[in-house]
Parts: sequence; C-alpha cells; structure tokens
Amino acid sequence: MAKSILKCIKCGSYTLKDKHCEKETINPKPAKYSPEDKYQDYRMKYKKLHNL
Ligand SMILES: [Zn+2]
Repeated sequence: MAKSILKCIKCGSYTLKDKHCEKETINPKPAKYSPEDKYQDYRMKYKKLHNL
C-alpha cells in the first residue's frame, strides 16, 4: 500500500507519519491540483488559438 507524503504544519517537514511535532500532518498536494490538469488547460487554449 503506497502512502502519500505528508507535511507537518508546524515545522514544514515532509513525513510519512500522520503526526509530527504533536500536530496532524497535511497532504501538501491536494487532489484538486494536478499538473496534468494544467497541461490539459494549456492544450485547450492552444486548440482555441488555432481554431482546431
Ligand atoms: Zn514537525
């Protein structure tokens, strides 16, 4: 089971643990953000520009 990397909100360290510095860690890359989506957006703009 692959576990995504987490970030400590207190010290900013990356960890695989659920807690760090006695605080809960967060996922530094929310599911909303994806470089793939950005690329798709670029492609859409490219298509529009060239009337494809
Ligand atoms: Zn920490």
